[in-house]
Amino acid sequence: MAKKEEKEILEELVVEEKKIDPAALVKKIKTPQLLRGFHDVLAEDQVYWEAIRQKVNSLAFAYSFDRMELPILEPTELFVRSVGKQTDIVEKEMFQFQDQSGANVVLRPEATASTARAYIEHGMVDRPQPVKLFYEGPMFRYDRPQAGRYRQFNQFGFETFGSDEAIIDAQLILIADRFFRELGIPVTMQVNSIGTTETRNEYKIELVAYYRTHRNEICEDCKRRLTRNPLRVLDCKVEGCRAVTANAPQIIDWLDESSKEHFMRVLEYLEEVDVHYVLAPHLVRGLDYYSRTVFEIVPEGTDGSQSALGGGGRYDGLVELLGGRPTPACGFAIGIERTVAALKERQILPEVRGRRDIFLAQLGDVARRKGLALFEAFRQEGVPVAEAFGKSALKAQLELADKYQVKYTLILGQKEVLDGTIIIRDMESGVQETVDMNKVVGIIKKKLTE
Ligand code: AMP
Repeated sequence: MAKKEEKEILEELVVEEKKIDPAALVKKIKTPQLLRGFHDVLAEDQVYWEAIRQKVNSLAFAYSFDRMELPILEPTELFVRSVGKQTDIVEKEMFQFQDQSGANVVLRPEATASTARAYIEHGMVDRPQPVKLFYEGPMFRYDRPQAGRYRQFNQFGFETFGSDEAIIDAQLILIADRFFRELGIPVTMQVNSIGTTETRNEYKIELVAYYRTHRNEICEDCKRRLTRNPLRVLDCKVEGCRAVTANAPQIIDWLDESSKEHFMRVLEYLEEVDVHYVLAPHLVRGLDYYSRTVFEIVPEGTDGSQSALGGGGRYDGLVELLGGRPTPACGFAIGIERTVAALKERQILPEVRGRRDIFLAQLGDVARRKGLALFEAFRQEGVPVAEAFGKSALKAQLELADKYQVKYTLILGQKEVLDGTIIIRDMESGVQETVDMNKVVGIIKKKLTE
């Protein structure tokens, strides 16, 4: 068959199979891009993510919180009922759609409601209380993307169900505080109490009356909020609104006796464990399910209006709101991207457990073959080793060893393979020694524990 004819048949086949426009074959293919507000976490950033995960896991273990994996897709109703209809999250930020069966579903915007759902659904009320759970994973909010604000971001959260004791609130605040401090990020805990539903109803009346006298100074959104959900005006970031809010009535003056006492106890516990907190009289947190203690975590030295690293509070009514038995509960969520950004801002490169201290370099075919087996011997003994079997030049391999900042590089060349030996190079001093290949795993293990 003539070459030309063959080419035509081939092209026809391809076009037919993939149903592509032949013109597209010649046009340059445009690479699909990330969706707006979404981001990739690259390998070079994993050191931060890993450090954060390790800290979360070690705190969870220390304070006896059990891990839960929760689904990312949930029924829309879950968040409408719990987070509240009049919140930004439910009003405008949910990624919601109908699935193939016509069910209304949503990519979860947060996970406290999911944890409460799971608590009810799996009858955790019958377990010894309090039930202490933690989670970690992606959340989705159709927010306006800007610095530190994504449409898919990650949170971890700690939640306690089944106790209304003030010490629970304080210990959760303490855990959040230690998380940041131990990573090297000094934080301030902004704390407040928003009492019971009755407290808030009385306070709302007072708040509306106050803002009405300043109607001309607040933004259009807030004017609307005033009739629908006046507490949200306190959260507004617009300059004019913030100025008016500065002198607004404070919910603490409307607290019932028992909430006031509860709050005082939370503060006393915090003093006991040296948590840096400030009272934030206008902090109410946007969501309907909070009651009593609320708090927000901000980097020390900022007022936190734009830069909260996390937040939480008590939500005694949530389980009941979702159809469970009345169950007091309290928890917090922390944003992982913002924590990574805070580490980078402070130029903190965290120490991560599980780093590799050994690099295995090989020269020539036989050494490469032997190296493959030696690598396995190290791995089976639980000694992590970095390698570059894909490279042959020693210089390129040593450069990699430098990059990994290993303590020792093992060099295996033709001569060493013949002699049954291997070179150990101490990367800090540059001193090299030749040892018996069959004993090298033991020798290295000993060196690493010295
Ligand atoms: P929230 O559930 O709104 O209280 O958020 C808790 C924490 O999650 C915040 O303090 C942020 O650290 C983080 N967070 C919330 N929304 C976003 C977002 N759109 N992008 C990145 N992080 C976020």
